Amino acid sequence: MAAPAPQLVPDDSDPTFAELIAGRPHLSVHAHDGLTMEEVPLARIAAAVGTPTWVYSAGTLRRRFHALRGALDDARVPAELHFAVKANPNLAVVRTLAKEGAGADIVSEGELRLALAAGIDPSHVVFSGVGKTLGELRFALSHRIGQINAESAEEIGMISAVATEMGVVADVALRVNPDVDARTHAKITTGKSENKFGVAIADAPALYARMAATPGVNPVGIAVHIGSQITSGVSAYAAAYAALADLVRALREQGLSVERVDCGGGLGIPYRHEPAPSPAALAGAIRGALGNLGVKLMVEPGRWICGPAGVLLTQVILQKHTPSLSGSAGGSLSGSAEGSLSGSAGGSRRFVILDAAMNDLLRPAMYDAWHGIVPVGPREFVSPVSPCDVVGPVCETGDTFARNRGLPMLEPGSLVAFLDAGAYGASMSSTYNARPLAAEVLVDGDRFAVVRARQTQEALLAGQRLPEWLAG
Ligand SMILES: *Cc1c(COP(=O)(O)O)cnc(C)c1O
Repeated sequence: MAAPAPQLVPDDSDPTFAELIAGRPHLSVHAHDGLTMEEVPLARIAAAVGTPTWVYSAGTLRRRFHALRGALDDARVPAELHFAVKANPNLAVVRTLAKEGAGADIVSEGELRLALAAGIDPSHVVFSGVGKTLGELRFALSHRIGQINAESAEEIGMISAVATEMGVVADVALRVNPDVDARTHAKITTGKSENKFGVAIADAPALYARMAATPGVNPVGIAVHIGSQITSGVSAYAAAYAALADLVRALREQGLSVERVDCGGGLGIPYRHEPAPSPAALAGAIRGALGNLGVKLMVEPGRWICGPAGVLLTQVILQKHTPSLSGSAGGSLSGSAEGSLSGSAGGSRRFVILDAAMNDLLRPAMYDAWHGIVPVGPREFVSPVSPCDVVGPVCETGDTFARNRGLPMLEPGSLVAFLDAGAYGASMSSTYNARPLAAEVLVDGDRFAVVRARQTQEALLAGQRLPEWLAG
């Protein structure tokens, strides 16, 4: 890249397009068709369905589910796998995993309905979350789900009230907070004492004993979930599971029965080049601490299974060039700290404005997340890159997907794909700026199907009503 001296280059610690694709076996690039998922060119999906569109690889969902399953089996810790539905509540995605034997970890009545509609047996459903309403508890118990993870003494009281009123006994696990630091983003760490989740381990023995004496409540075990996108090795898991094992022994010494341990989810994935722990390492941590307790084990992965399986397919609306306001024409690195760091080239900044926005993919705005962004077109894939800011059309400066990212020059209508968008992508979308929810597509070999239609403009308005005094 022989550029005039002051021109900034893209962040050279970013992986190249080729490196990104090489690490994702369901994606490939073809001289004529460009970026392809399994056997379906993404351009074909864009032509048929429009953009922005989420596209998921069924083969990847299956492959990753079985990789996790295999790692646990190899470590001789046969655990039930409950897919954390909140990571991707698309019915076809959950159905694909259900057919491979996945249960579900759910956090609302809506997710329970979805898991049931996907064909998951209620006995393989675990209900987590700090605030389940009476109505949600009633609905869950009426469907005889496998387990409710209680997160407070107050909630145990609510479960008891609902269960006795219905004349049933609820299988309840106590979610404990092991006060370990999963060293992930502050917004997705859940296992520290200042987080809202679970009960302190020190309080657990007394609470568990109280559960055993509470009508309508059958204490079946303990649960933990220390955070999401854990990429700093498995030491936090090992610490949490060691604390759980001590707790199980203490409870048993009190004469209490502990049949199950729910190990939570949170296994991270490499979005950029994070050193994500392997399923084998997680399985080893589970085995090391909990393998000899004679308990039924459960794991609740979300992101690890579905994150890498999805892309967000979007097109360029336009490229906008603005003169740099940093003053010093040419913007040297030692000049303005802010202005020169992102996307400035020869004194101007290039903004690539996409038809996807933060209302579709919230992770960059919410968690400062990095997603690979690659051109779909075969020529653009191999064209020289220069730095740009990649943004959406929403009226927020936070609607910025990437700064100082290397992309080729892109024409209006050029397609680009956000990688690893299969988890906490569509599920966190909103209609901010009155933008309809994007379509979702499932690819399986050489087939693809729309598995959620793009929301229509009519549907966006459908629930709104004018009060009688404003009508007319
Ligand atoms: C979100 C969540 C999970 C899944 O987390 P991932 O990081 O997607 O694996 C598992 N268990 C509970 C209780 C959760 O809240």
